[in-house]
Amino acid sequence: MIIQRVVLNSRPGKNGVPVAENFRLEESTIADAIQAGQVRVRTLYLSVDPYMRCRMNEDTGSDYLLPWQLSEVADGGGIGVVEESKHDSFAKGDFVISFNWPWQTVAILDGSLLQKLIPQLVNGRLSYFLGAAGITGLTALLGIKEKGHVAVGANQTMVVSGAAGACGSLAGQIGRLEGCSRVVGIAGTDEKCSILVQEMGFDAAINYKKGNVAEQLREFCPGGVDVYFDNVGGDISDTVISQMNQNSHIILCGQISQYNKDVPYPPPLSPDIEKIRKERNITRERFLVLNYMDKQEASVLQLCQWIQEGKLKVRETVVEGLANIGAAFQSMMSGGNIGKQIVSVSK
Ligand code: NAP
Repeated sequence: MIIQRVVLNSRPGKNGVPVAENFRLEESTIADAIQAGQVRVRTLYLSVDPYMRCRMNEDTGSDYLLPWQLSEVADGGGIGVVEESKHDSFAKGDFVISFNWPWQTVAILDGSLLQKLIPQLVNGRLSYFLGAAGITGLTALLGIKEKGHVAVGANQTMVVSGAAGACGSLAGQIGRLEGCSRVVGIAGTDEKCSILVQEMGFDAAINYKKGNVAEQLREFCPGGVDVYFDNVGGDISDTVISQMNQNSHIILCGQISQYNKDVPYPPPLSPDIEKIRKERNITRERFLVLNYMDKQEASVLQLCQWIQEGKLKVRETVVEGLANIGAAFQSMMSGGNIGKQIVSVSK
């Protein structure tokens, strides 16, 4: 059977900015027949995520991420529909998900790599299982629960960087649901800031590309910052940490401003910011959602319930067509997305 697939065409280099041309669409073939234990799936949605920048390097810099190989098909989170099954757990028409879905239109996968999805849990919005009801939502929820020390009635102020992105937009809302009394976001455009405040219930949002971030933080967080959900690192984080309170907590989710640089993860703080962190006893422990997968099932149900109740507002930026996945990745890495970046493969 002839299929289309997307392979890694070139590496951007450890200090390079990724571009669409780092990926290449090509035709390929898969077997006409499947073997016992296998499932043939048609791809519906693919997830595009910042961690993929590390997979574009020859050495990903982490032991849990494998590098993509040149001229070989890329992979990541994906959702599809079963066309044929020789695995007991799946039947034709089932919707399924995998963290290692190849970027191709049709694939033959080992059934053990797949999980069945229940569309009703997300009001039929299947792609949410790659975002708000998937790893992204889990990252926001478990990051806050495991590292945020958020308590109802404690009158805490939370600041979120990368706030209009997939994790950030959920983290601010979940911070509020878990008990924070004030939530302030930092994002890269006025449109994003207005969505955060008007749609997602943030108390205020700061466009870090305009005006003075430190001044606006002082204005919007008059009692200082108790919890910082950090997606970006770099200068923005230095500014936030400088305004954090004694015994406060950083949720070290990601450091996207450093991903095109050859630095270790997590990047160490500069000496003066590290001094502030130590003097104020601010925690900054590494957080990796994959370490908490024993909490996946209950947490996904919680996220789905909030979505169904309308308590968690979800935004997606959907790009149509497998051919555009490289452009979607490039766009997300430079701020072109609001909420989760998804590629729809069905059209
Ligand atoms: P995302 O935030 O939806 O997409 C990236 C956003 O980051 C862009 O839209 C852009 O928004 C912002 N950005 C890009 N370059 C920036 C820079 N130099 N400085 C400041 N902001 C920049 O991506 P996501 O999937 O939600 O991931 C967010 C972070 O969480 C990433 O660092 C990711 O690696 C991390 N993560 C961690 C875990 C974990 O287990 N710890 C799991 C999933 C994701 P603006 O327009 O606002 O600049």
